[in-house]
Amino acid sequence: MPDAPLVEDYHDRTAGSRHFASPIVFWDETLRDGEQTPGVHFGPEEKLAIAEKLADAGVPLVNAGIPVVSAEEAASVKRLASAGLKCDILAAARTVAGDIDAVIASGASHIAIFVAASEVHLRYKLKMTQEQVLEASVRSVRQAKSAGLHVAFVTEDTVRAPFDFVERLYRAVTEEKADRLVVADTVGIMTPLTFRWYLEEFRRRVRPKDWSVHCHNDFGLAVANTLTALEVGVTSPHVCVNGLGERAGNASLEEVVVALETLYGVRTGIRTDSLYELSRLVEELSGVPLAPNKALVGYNSFSHEAGIHTHGILAHTLTYEPLQPETVGRHRQMILGKHTGKAALAEKLKERHAEASDAVLARLLQEIKTGSESESKAAWTRFLAAYRARFEHPGLSDEEFWRLARAAGVTGGGT
Ligand code: MN
Repeated sequence: MPDAPLVEDYHDRTAGSRHFASPIVFWDETLRDGEQTPGVHFGPEEKLAIAEKLADAGVPLVNAGIPVVSAEEAASVKRLASAGLKCDILAAARTVAGDIDAVIASGASHIAIFVAASEVHLRYKLKMTQEQVLEASVRSVRQAKSAGLHVAFVTEDTVRAPFDFVERLYRAVTEEKADRLVVADTVGIMTPLTFRWYLEEFRRRVRPKDWSVHCHNDFGLAVANTLTALEVGVTSPHVCVNGLGERAGNASLEEVVVALETLYGVRTGIRTDSLYELSRLVEELSGVPLAPNKALVGYNSFSHEAGIHTHGILAHTLTYEPLQPETVGRHRQMILGKHTGKAALAEKLKERHAEASDAVLARLLQEIKTGSESESKAAWTRFLAAYRARFEHPGLSDEEFWRLARAAGVTGGGT
């Protein structure tokens, strides 16, 4: 009888339902949507450092920001566009002539022109009619195309907008030779099944050649929805390192890439072993710490403490790990603590060719368990207090705001 495989892999049973584009063009949003994470600001040198790492990792397209936002932002985009990076640099603009001029002046080769599409955005935010949005979109795409830019057209809140309007709008910009069409789930309300339906309907009505999705993580579904979109055949997913972005963030670059590579065997062109370093750099420069249990790049993702698990891992890593930590540039960690078992201890001793009888091992194990159970939480409590102070009130303090307001000449409002 032939040897049975160690694990069954059923992904090939569903291969017929997947239609990946080739190549998949990863569009990184860390420096734009990621920077819009509350409290986050990247200076020009920081943006350059992150863009360099992204390019080195093989990410082909990087959104550098919105030049019209500020002089510093315009300088950042210019810096990235002229740095000779191995990736294309994109900058974003509203459907406003001045915004598009700022992108042209920045030297970016790619532009994303965005406008809202849902009724709530049109009526309450833009105060524009569908006809006005349509007209502004057509005019803006025309302006950017005539400057020779690669043009992506984005609607915010696409998936909550009337489909007939979406169809009309995207067909109109396609006639103006927009190069790429972006479907945005701006508030993260799609589920994989509904998003599949939506995208298939979009393809049937609009017939996009090159298209993107922009998925938010409000319900924790950004990565799942992005994978769904790629299964449908979307060519260019928006991603952010560490899943940064507005509110709960965007689809995480590392999770989408590694899921494609490891679960489906799709070649992404991204060097997965550079993802951990990239993640740490963005953690440091953004000031947004990773959740320890974050997939792939979280501190615990390849750590084992429980005796049963450690024993299994030491016998064969497939028991409790779906991929090797080295895949993302990391190493496995065995944690000694309350849940440690004998196998981990024996392994630890073996590393240094140390020896111990069963009785000694049992005594040592008891010491470790008792030690971890009686460990003081004082240091942890202090750390958590500082962490909460930073994240419960990010940005300008109320006090600082009123000091600035008074200095600027605001009067009244009590003391
Ligand atoms: Mn967004």
